[in-house]
Amino acid sequence: MNPYWSDVVAGLTPYVPGEQPKLAKLVKLNTNESPYGPSPRALAALRAEVGDTLRLYPDPDCASLRQSIATFYDLKPAQVFVSNGSDEVLAHIFLALLKHRQPVLFPDITYSFYPVYCGLYGIDYRQVPLTEAFEIRVDDYLTPNGGIIFPNPNAPTGRPLALAEIERLLRANTGSAVVVDEAYVDFGAESAVGLIDRYPQLLVVHTLSKSRSLAGLRVGYALGDAGLIEALCRVKDSFNSYPLDRFAQAGAIAAIEDRAYFEQTCAKVIATRTWLARELAALGCDVLPSAANFVFVRHPRQKGAELAARLRERGIIVRHFTKPERIAQFLRITVGTEAQCQALIAALGEILA
Ligand code: PMP
Repeated sequence: MNPYWSDVVAGLTPYVPGEQPKLAKLVKLNTNESPYGPSPRALAALRAEVGDTLRLYPDPDCASLRQSIATFYDLKPAQVFVSNGSDEVLAHIFLALLKHRQPVLFPDITYSFYPVYCGLYGIDYRQVPLTEAFEIRVDDYLTPNGGIIFPNPNAPTGRPLALAEIERLLRANTGSAVVVDEAYVDFGAESAVGLIDRYPQLLVVHTLSKSRSLAGLRVGYALGDAGLIEALCRVKDSFNSYPLDRFAQAGAIAAIEDRAYFEQTCAKVIATRTWLARELAALGCDVLPSAANFVFVRHPRQKGAELAARLRERGIIVRHFTKPERIAQFLRITVGTEAQCQALIAALGEILA
């Protein structure tokens, strides 16, 4: 160990993001990006931002962007928090709202950054097992806790939780924050945003990285009661007052305001997912029902690691998790363009033949 490291750094187990390959020609289905480019209006807004004003700091409060997001969801700007990707929003949430004496609860199979934030901030956590069918069971969360967080739809399974179940959890769990990470919600799950005005403990997290095709811009946001948002602002202003640069703010505003483009691209991804799931099932794969822009699949007789390696030899990369054991034979495959998904099915057909 390096002698200059702090004990905190020495004790960290960092998150490992999916590969961003340097080779251009790969069919990249491993990190759930959109296969479609950003809204043309967002691109125009980004180009317009190149100029003399870059010598000035951006708006630290992101007032215009928060107004655009508030308008989109019929909320008030004081109910909106924005930051550098939803990962940074989540980081602030863990410190501001989930660090308490009782452990924070999240599923045993979920976004693998959650335990990493707990490690970074010294937060006690308890992982709640998904059911046999990889579903979140609300009753399992009705125990004393310091907060609850889960994605809806869950990742990497893609399985959604019904809004009525989320509301049942909110009615029962009033003493701690309930965070619903809706990174993939626009691809077919029911959003909890409509419950915000009735449940002051509810925080909903979104990202522009998936359904808005802007993973490269790094913009995420949280929606909830003004009291929760204030907690996040307190952390942000103790960490980095300018988390979103001028490009991020301008591009994000234009992307949020281009509702038609957003709806079209989401509809295309959903249609391709339906086709992909059917073709994978026809090849003998078990496909979990997905409300996300990816599918979670396994073949009853093939090892997940081997399938991923053989797809890679054919220039197609998908995500494979070795842990936990229960998902080691699964592949998480991002829904690409129709042509990319056809290439995947053709390659898998050859491998399985
Ligand atoms: N939540 C979930 C469930 C995710 O899968 C991801 C993407 N890795 C994120 C949050 C973070 O996305 P971003 O930081 O790009 O907004």
